[in-house]
Amino acid sequence: MEQVDEWVRRSITDHPGGVAVIDASREVTYGELGAAAEVVRGLLADAGVRPGDLVGMRMPRGWRVYAAVLGIWRHGCGYVPVDPSYPRPRQDFVLADAGVRTVVEAGPDDTFILSGSAETNAPGPRAPKGTAYVLHTSGSTGRPKGVVVSHRSLAAFVRGFVASFGTGANEVWAQSTSPCFDVSLAESWVPLVTGARLVAVPERALRDPRRLVELLVEERVTVLSQVPTVFRYLLDAAVRAGASFPALRRVLLAGEAVEPAVVTRWADLGLSPGATYHNLYGPTEGTVYATWQRLTPVELARRDAPGTPIGRALPHVEVQLRSGGRLVADGESGEIYLSGGIADRYLDRPELTGRAFVRDADGRVWYRTGDLAVRDTDGSLHCLGRADRQVKVRGMRVELGEVESRLLGCAGVAGGAVVSVTGPRGEPMLVGCFVPRDETDDTLARRLPAEMAEFLPSHMVPARFVALPALPLTLSGKLDRGRLEELAGRRRSGSGTGAVAPPGGRAG
Ligand code: AMP
Repeated sequence: MEQVDEWVRRSITDHPGGVAVIDASREVTYGELGAAAEVVRGLLADAGVRPGDLVGMRMPRGWRVYAAVLGIWRHGCGYVPVDPSYPRPRQDFVLADAGVRTVVEAGPDDTFILSGSAETNAPGPRAPKGTAYVLHTSGSTGRPKGVVVSHRSLAAFVRGFVASFGTGANEVWAQSTSPCFDVSLAESWVPLVTGARLVAVPERALRDPRRLVELLVEERVTVLSQVPTVFRYLLDAAVRAGASFPALRRVLLAGEAVEPAVVTRWADLGLSPGATYHNLYGPTEGTVYATWQRLTPVELARRDAPGTPIGRALPHVEVQLRSGGRLVADGESGEIYLSGGIADRYLDRPELTGRAFVRDADGRVWYRTGDLAVRDTDGSLHCLGRADRQVKVRGMRVELGEVESRLLGCAGVAGGAVVSVTGPRGEPMLVGCFVPRDETDDTLARRLPAEMAEFLPSHMVPARFVALPALPLTLSGKLDRGRLEELAGRRRSGSGTGAVAPPGGRAG
């Protein structure tokens, strides 16, 4: 099957003068994008990077991200993105974990440069042949894990998505997500393979929904993909500004459970009269989105539906619901298993891979998502939530275990646990509960955010810390998480060491 970069090459050949990317500083044509990709490919070749290697990518938002990825793919390599806004130790960890020796970075005046990673001499893990990218997601045991996705799976996803949605060259896509998140693959490559326009949403518009509203209006964006939490903020900002989006044709909601009331309000207010609304579900391991559901007024008004409607499989995957190893009947709850155009491993983590990617009797590999769902009699799926302790913060995946292991590693912490509670605006909020080593140390809660932010990105740093004399236990001596959530939710300002304000965060 044609790789995504080959498919983009067709857009470049077919309309070299057409606008491919608009970012905060300029418009870039398809011809210019192709030429820049060639520059990156040449740099890699001159540096002796071997096709098949993994290459790091550390880029500020903007048109060069897409050129860098295309250049890396053209050289036969896979990319490993790191977000320059993340703590440096986390960036270094990701690059070292993937055995990356070369990183494509932004040079002065729209140029590209290569840098060596800190672990230049480490013989890192070899990615399997045909790897398109490795995305690191939060790891429950304390360190991020790299999801390995092949060109084959990516191309199957993009092809299936384009066919299902029928999107073409006349669209204008807003691209908001950092390349470190899988949604960025849909937002970037669906427009570029179809010869559409991609508007790279600048940092300041991500932080300020008023600016995003202005951008969507100015650029006459036709496809908007958003995390439901951020969509809610956008709705508020649009209402305050008295703005509407007549050009918008499709709103894609993904990353966490949709809020039907917000979508209904948006539609009722006539903010985008010509738009349809879609819920897209899928883990990074399933290659971006695995299922989709059109959110019609009837679907949005349903009160009897269990969970959140995630619809049916996209063409690149097959979905099964299983419980205790057997397929469940309609109406019964089971874990979502995915097969087909999915990832097939975590990089260099055989044990984790063995647990998450299982083979059936026919030798087919299935990814266990950890999400629970039921199938309606009409065949559509409803997601009921997680079977484990993974949560979403503004659509970004967080393993509480990873945050917890950082908390326990902080100086002065004798014990602790992290829970997710409902925040002041109804969104999930992380609370770090800890037992201080020294009860008289009343500055500890104030020191913890900075110490945890040395490795964790801002969305993973608990928004609040609560000091406890001891962690609550169940009768059988296990941590009583229910009680802990109660304590964490109740204590707006913890006694003793107290609560502290969250550090600033941003959407993925
Ligand atoms: P990520 O790997 O960051 O894309 O996160 C994947 C996880 O986010 C899934 O396993 C679900 O738990 C959750 N998720 C993604 N999309 C949706 C959705 N549309 N509705 C409900 N949960 C979702």
